Amino acid sequence: MRFTRIRLSGFKSFGEPAEFLVQPGLTGVVGPNGCGKSNLVEALRWAMGESSARQVRGGGMDDVIFAGAGARPARNVAEVALSARREEDDPPPPPGAVDGAMEEIEIARRIERGAGSTYRVNGREARARDVQVLFADAATGAKSAALVSQGEIGALIGARPTERRRLLEEAAGVAGLHARRHEAELRLRAAEANLERLEDVVAAGEARLRSLERQARQAARYRTLVDGLRRAEAALSFRRWADAAAEEAAAAEAFAAATAA
Ligand code: ATP
Repeated sequence: MRFTRIRLSGFKSFGEPAEFLVQPGLTGVVGPNGCGKSNLVEALRWAMGESSARQVRGGGMDDVIFAGAGARPARNVAEVALSARREEDDPPPPPGAVDGAMEEIEIARRIERGAGSTYRVNGREARARDVQVLFADAATGAKSAALVSQGEIGALIGARPTERRRLLEEAAGVAGLHARRHEAELRLRAAEANLERLEDVVAAGEARLRSLERQARQAARYRTLVDGLRRAEAALSFRRWADAAAEEAAAAEAFAAATAA
């Protein structure tokens, strides 16, 4: 990956929109003290997804927004857009990479005072993590050894073996894979938590099912008993009616005999 252009607007000392074209070869930035050379490097670091305000010499992330100078008023929005081109000898992007197989990539980060940052990759909204992984795949990024700040060389020489291993892995181009593995592990843990919750829901459902089955059995028994009761009541009524009819016939007979007598 090779940077071709950096556009800044409202970032630190760059109150007005500014554009830097990065030509092939080595690029040096020269200028008097305090003219904004370090701010330019910090703009790179920031657009690559830097999450620590301290790393861009700020107390809070809003400090990167132009705070005004002389007669120029402060701004409420800062934006840095990095244009990069994929080189022929770059490894192909891994499957699912946010930039796909695009030749030209523009990564933009924008911050609004009090509202936080948003990222765009080629105009499409992206997450900070997507942008960090995109640069990690290209063996660079805000936290990578590709950006060396003042005093960091000494720290690298004195680094512990585990820290050196991180640098070697980054040089070998596996830092992006590590970031992906971390994200996949987080997703796996979330899925496991969901699965546990699901098991609880299934257990509660099974208990309810058992109770409903018991109630259904009781209802079926009730219906059979009510049927039997109705049949018995009908038989009883018929019996009473038959007895009454027989009594009526006997009474009619007796009445006829008495009338004749
Ligand atoms: P040196 O050569 O001394 O290291 P430099 O060229 O690297 O200097 P920077 O440190 O990049 O300069 O820029 C410092 C300048 O940026 C200071 O003048 C500071 O006032 C200005 N600056 C930093 N943050 C902001 C901001 N949020 N708004 C306006 N100006 C800012």
